[in-house]
Amino acid sequence: MKLIMYSVRDAEKPYIEAWEKKTGNDVKMVTEPLNADTVKLAEGYDGISLQQTTKLGDEQLYEQLAAMGIKQLAARMVGVDIFDLDACKANGIIVTNVPIYSPRAIAEMGVTQAMYLLRRIGEFEQRMSHGDFRWSDDLISNEIYNLTVGIVGLGNIGGATAQIYKALGAKVLAYDPSYNVEYEPYVEYTDFDTVIKNADILSLHTPLLPSTENMIAAPQFKMMKDNAYLINMARGKLVNTADLISALENKEIAGAGLDTLADETSFFGKQVTSDQIPDDYKKLAAMPNVLVTPHVAFLTETSIRNMVEISLNDAVTILEGKHSRNEIRM
Ligand code: NAD
Repeated sequence: MKLIMYSVRDAEKPYIEAWEKKTGNDVKMVTEPLNADTVKLAEGYDGISLQQTTKLGDEQLYEQLAAMGIKQLAARMVGVDIFDLDACKANGIIVTNVPIYSPRAIAEMGVTQAMYLLRRIGEFEQRMSHGDFRWSDDLISNEIYNLTVGIVGLGNIGGATAQIYKALGAKVLAYDPSYNVEYEPYVEYTDFDTVIKNADILSLHTPLLPSTENMIAAPQFKMMKDNAYLINMARGKLVNTADLISALENKEIAGAGLDTLADETSFFGKQVTSDQIPDDYKKLAAMPNVLVTPHVAFLTETSIRNMVEISLNDAVTILEGKHSRNEIRM
């Protein structure tokens, strides 16, 4: 097969080349996204892989793809909101995504942030930057095997997180409305409030849904232990940011590790000037007991390799007239 891959980044190239060698298929790599200007690059190719945040274009683009004989679009990511799925259906184009590429990547980032916070590293750093290299009684840490970890949302990433904490000797409580026997060896299932009240580390791993938006707000912060850390590697809007800032300022919780923020889309993933950075972020980033990363928990070699390989395998599967479990229902 001859495939064209849009928006190729340098980090992906070794994995694309290895896949070509392994499967005997050819991949043309281009750095541009797929849009009205670049669609003609797909002329003469059997299939397409893409990864972009911008929408592809209007209906005409899908008609153009169909006229070129393109039968599938393989996204190297989870989200498929860049596609006009009605136009795909109307033009006989099957869309696939990569819903699971490395739960461990996100789980490990959450645990890394929790470890950093638990050992008070930000607070020591702040004092050292002022010439204070003393150790003091107010920065005594605890060790993970003495702690209770609360997981909210025990799916792929929550499950991987639970396994790591269990391996480190922690007691792991979990709340998820759907029961998964696979995680029984690692967790004690309980209700939401029990998780919130008992967690020394509260780790969020639910999708953003109307039922999960603001699931951690003032009432939950009041229920949490005042020495607890909140870890949010999932979606910013699960947490009410104003309430989080108040809880931190009022010492209702000990700190927070955040890879997502409610208003992140205006600046995460971009080079911006200071006046473009929201005040919420500035307040949080100034706190030594808060760690913020710009939605990069997924960014590991394993994730990149899997996004490349799974999307290319799916492209070939669809082109061979077979079904992939990653097909988007339209
Ligand atoms: P998943 O679908 O495998 O698991 C989500 C779990 O949440 C499911 O078990 C579901 O039953 C549960 N859930 C739904 N509503 C709930 C509720 N009200 N209370 C408790 N649990 C509830 O999803 P996943 O792949 O594990 O992803 C988890 C989160 O991580 C998502 O928000 C996703 O967007 C995010 N994510 C972040 C990054 C990153 O780089 N930071 C990367 C990938 C995914």
